[in-house]
Amino acid sequence: MKYEPVIGLEVHAQLLTDTKIFCGCRAAYGAAPNTQTCPVCLGLPGALPVLNRRAVDFAVRMILAVGGRVNRESIFARKNYFYPDLPKGYQISQFDRPIGEDGAITFLEDGSECSIGLIRIHLEEDAGKSFHPENALDDEASWVDMNRCGVPLIEIVSKPDIRSPKQAGLYLTRLRQTLEYLDVCTGNMEEGALRCDANVSIRPIGQTTFGTRTEVKNMNSIRGVERGLAYEIERQSKLVESGG
Ligand code: ADP
Ligand code: MG
Ligand code: ZN
Repeated sequence: MKYEPVIGLEVHAQLLTDTKIFCGCRAAYGAAPNTQTCPVCLGLPGALPVLNRRAVDFAVRMILAVGGRVNRESIFARKNYFYPDLPKGYQISQFDRPIGEDGAITFLEDGSECSIGLIRIHLEEDAGKSFHPENALDDEASWVDMNRCGVPLIEIVSKPDIRSPKQAGLYLTRLRQTLEYLDVCTGNMEEGALRCDANVSIRPIGQTTFGTRTEVKNMNSIRGVERGLAYEIERQSKLVESGG
């Protein structure tokens, strides 16, 4: 192969707290739609978020487990965007002072140790969940379940240190294992407790600067991430070959 893939993963992990990150609603998966909501997580006017101490504890647990640095001072930020599953019109996330930075995920690949650096681990709230029923021909409605609004997440952002889809799979497997071992996340990808955005670019072997990346969003299986990356690497190679 003439090109080397460069991959960086963003992983969202739902934290296993009893209640949501900024209110007292239950955070458990699987309840009847819109039964676990309140003025805070619905974003009603005048509602005041109060941070869940246990969500912070769980984030710190993960940061320490991967050898990261816990920032003594950390701030939340508003990420503004319009979407029907986001009643406030913004997500409470972290930007320039995340709770954790650095650290690494290490694993074995064909017997040799591989270490993938982390850029940051930050806390944020999950959004609601939209449903678009496919089989309803005369039903043009979409549905939204706000139970997931305000479920605590950590986002774990890797450096662009990953070099193959297989390595991305091994990284995710070890990451999920670590979260499960620490009891901070179920790791259940079918239920969306762990979701991955994969950033990927290619570059001619030997080149030190990075190419232009694309991002494959919201994948909910490790196999899906590997296959999505393989497809994208192939697509980008052809594009670059043809002068794109
Ligand atoms: P954004 O919110 O814009 O996606 P983040 O900093 O949260 O930004 O994540 C960017 C991700 O993309 C990181 O995992 C990083 O390692 C990866 N990345 C950055 N540049 C490249 C590149 N040229 N090729 C592949 N991955 C990249
Ligand atoms: Mg991204
Ligand atoms: Zn609530």
